[in-house]
Amino acid sequence: MKLNLPVAVEKAFKQLESCGFCGYLVGGCVRDFLLGTPPTDFDMTTDATPDEIIKCFANHRVVETGIRHGTVTVMIEGMAIEITTHRIEGDYSDNRRPDTVAFTRNLADDLARRDFTINAMAYHPQKGLIDLFAGSQDIKNKIVRCVGNPSHRMAEDALRILRGLRFAAVLGFDLEPETGRAIRQNCGQLRHISAERIAVELDKLICGKNVKAIILEETAVLGVVIPELLPAKNFNQMNPHHCYDVLTHTAVAMETLAPVPRLRWVMLFHDLGKPATFTRDVDGVGHFKGHSKVSEGMARERLTALRFSRNIVDQVCLLVKYHDTLIEADKTSVKRWLNRLSEPLFRDLIAIKRGDNLAQAPQYRDRLVSLQKLEVLLDQVIAEKACFSLKDLAVNGHDLIDLGITNGVEIGRILKQLLAGVIEEVYQNEKESLMKKVKEIHRC
Ligand code: ATP
Ligand code: MG
Repeated sequence: MKLNLPVAVEKAFKQLESCGFCGYLVGGCVRDFLLGTPPTDFDMTTDATPDEIIKCFANHRVVETGIRHGTVTVMIEGMAIEITTHRIEGDYSDNRRPDTVAFTRNLADDLARRDFTINAMAYHPQKGLIDLFAGSQDIKNKIVRCVGNPSHRMAEDALRILRGLRFAAVLGFDLEPETGRAIRQNCGQLRHISAERIAVELDKLICGKNVKAIILEETAVLGVVIPELLPAKNFNQMNPHHCYDVLTHTAVAMETLAPVPRLRWVMLFHDLGKPATFTRDVDGVGHFKGHSKVSEGMARERLTALRFSRNIVDQVCLLVKYHDTLIEADKTSVKRWLNRLSEPLFRDLIAIKRGDNLAQAPQYRDRLVSLQKLEVLLDQVIAEKACFSLKDLAVNGHDLIDLGITNGVEIGRILKQLLAGVIEEVYQNEKESLMKKVKEIHRC
């Protein structure tokens, strides 16, 4: 097997060789090559110690990214290549980190410590593929399988539980039965893993093309890190708009969306407030009054606990809050929503509403037509450069100060009133006429 490598990677191989060492591409990039997807980054492993790597690449920029773990990042022609000394890991007494890490000159030992067979292959331009655990076979058969004893490997580092689900969701692979069992048996150990590491894996998992199957089949495992999922499982909505229980609806709706974490998080949480707000009317039909607000609260609490940035949490929560709010398909309504959300978030809201509707009972998919209309209107409003925020208004605070209005609160109140008038198309966004309005408003 011969891979077509970037010039910078070829140079890294040659440089190591010229210093008397041997490097290999390893992990995700080899897996991605075999999958036919262009790798995003190139990781190498070598028999050189970190100090030897640094000396060998003395004529390049070298960053000591994880020197204690043997990792050095070398910059070659603008490309960052992570080069790590072959490692053996000692015992794991805390379910997350090895007690000791030892360097070794032996590639096989390094490959044996890796999590899954599909991630445990190495490649060398002359030696070809080094596949000691039949990873290429598992790629062919679309299987996620632990290297070694699955139960031991999951117990060593509980993050592998989520990584296993992540690769299954992203690649559309099945969990090898023993690996799946070990994941389920050890899932409680995820408690020992830091929120940040969990969040990195979840961000990738929810964007997987096979996320629906993982959410539905591995709810108990995911429930350890997102307990809000558990009451939604098999929760019958008893409502003619719905053909799925709450969790199935959620999972189906998620797969309709682009693989963008923000969108997928919104969809994951949008209806999780339903079990807590469920009521039945006299005809036995289920209702979920106020569920958006409850879902929003759940999203805020969970995403904050997972240490997502305040900005992401706010954006997700805003979209969860409004996912079920009716939006009139006319231009003033579009401008009001643009003012409330900004253009990118408004487009996201439309995508969420579309995905939500696509996962409802087929006879109620009529909302798709009005969403399409809304999108056309949105494009028009943007193309016309219509005014929908204070920065687009033909007058600003300075103009009001020039009129002698000095109170900041009053300035804010007047500008807001002008903007509302312009959005509702009662006023024209034109300086002279707006200044006249200012005088009227200020007087009363
Ligand atoms: P991605 O394409 O998302 O970067 P990746 O396979 O490269 O996927 P990384 O987290 O970048 O994943 O890890 C690089 C390699 O290190 C993996 O392919 C795997 O061989 C090994 N690895 C990473 N995390 C673990 C772990 N927790 N236990 C064992 N091996 C691991
Ligand atoms: Mg990687």
